[in-house]
Amino acid sequence: MTLSVLEHCAVRGHEQVAFFSYPEVGLKLIVGIHDTTLGPGLGGCRMRLYESDEQALEDVIRLSEGMTYKSALAGLPLGGGKACLIADPHMTSGREALFKKVGECLNHLAGRYITAEDMGTSVDDIMVVRSVSRFVVGTDPNKGGAGDPSPWTALGVFHAMRAAVERMFPNNPSLSGKRIALQGVGHVGMYLLEHLTKVGASVVVSDTHSKSLEIASKKYGAQVISPDSIYDVPCDLFAPCAIGQTVNQDTLHRLSCRIIAGAANNQLVDQGVYTTLAERGILYCPDFAINSGGVICVSAELAPGGPQNSWIESKVGEIYGTTGRVIDEAIKRGQPTEEVAIELAKECIAEAKRGREQ
Ligand code: NAD
Repeated sequence: MTLSVLEHCAVRGHEQVAFFSYPEVGLKLIVGIHDTTLGPGLGGCRMRLYESDEQALEDVIRLSEGMTYKSALAGLPLGGGKACLIADPHMTSGREALFKKVGECLNHLAGRYITAEDMGTSVDDIMVVRSVSRFVVGTDPNKGGAGDPSPWTALGVFHAMRAAVERMFPNNPSLSGKRIALQGVGHVGMYLLEHLTKVGASVVVSDTHSKSLEIASKKYGAQVISPDSIYDVPCDLFAPCAIGQTVNQDTLHRLSCRIIAGAANNQLVDQGVYTTLAERGILYCPDFAINSGGVICVSAELAPGGPQNSWIESKVGEIYGTTGRVIDEAIKRGQPTEEVAIELAKECIAEAKRGREQ
């Protein structure tokens, strides 16, 4: 197993993978630090009962690398990191002791990794970590934290959609009147729906949670459709804002959109869909390039004076230009947008390295 971890690190460029084990509090934690050229590795702490330790390790490796590219493209002085806590996210007894230990583990890493809330962890958990470690963001807004990142993620995706529409519909480059199939009206999706309806887009939504659909329909006049039918909606844009891997060989043949742009992480099932996207003439806005509003928001807590909404808003506004750059470069280089977004992020890191060496 050790060799395979090292192989993983060499291939994907990870600087460090740290394993922590404190059975007395039930802690099994893996922290992946991918690249710290631009700054400390920042990324959430996921809590999940993985089927195996190897599965958790794979998650850490993949997700921490993704955070490097997300932060680099967002122009943040941060690198990529992620933590996976192998434990039941619903546990109650001993939870505080567990998260205090997580804080101690972070202190061992001395700031090379900064954690935040993620799947399975809450602001309460993060505040426990905060009580023993300062290497934490996503803290309680009543105690100096930046608050819910979802509205900022939604705003970033909205900016990305504007940039994409300008390129795919040059004769009518506005979201007004465009038909959008929005998958998932949770935290991010609902704020996105608000932006879209405000500018006069026509939105069809799906969700597995009936209460959210009721709000989407009553408050924003969205048309509701069943979760599986969302792929068949005739539309200009498809916005995955629920779960990952919804863009796959099965769904791609059903989608009639010209653009895919949403908040969900890991929207593409694998790189095999690049060809189908190109054949179908669908422009994919890489998820990590456009859903960085959340990391921008929580990273604002690291600023000396604490989080400032004006700074977050301006940084999230840059997603419009970044998306445009990714699309234009992809056309110029004749490459898939996701590949180009990774290359641009790597170029940014390489430039920082060169600058340091001079
Ligand atoms: P959420 O859990 O609040 O919302 C997800 C919504 O999708 C829920 O309403 C859920 O009922 C619905 N859903 C689940 N399965 C579905 C399906 N098969 N079809 C339709 N709807 C389905 O999560 P969120 O915070 O809104 O995040 C949405 C996505 O964006 C996630 O993939 C998340 O990882 C990603 N993301 C979120 C943020 C953020 O700031 N919250 C930042 C970056 C990325």
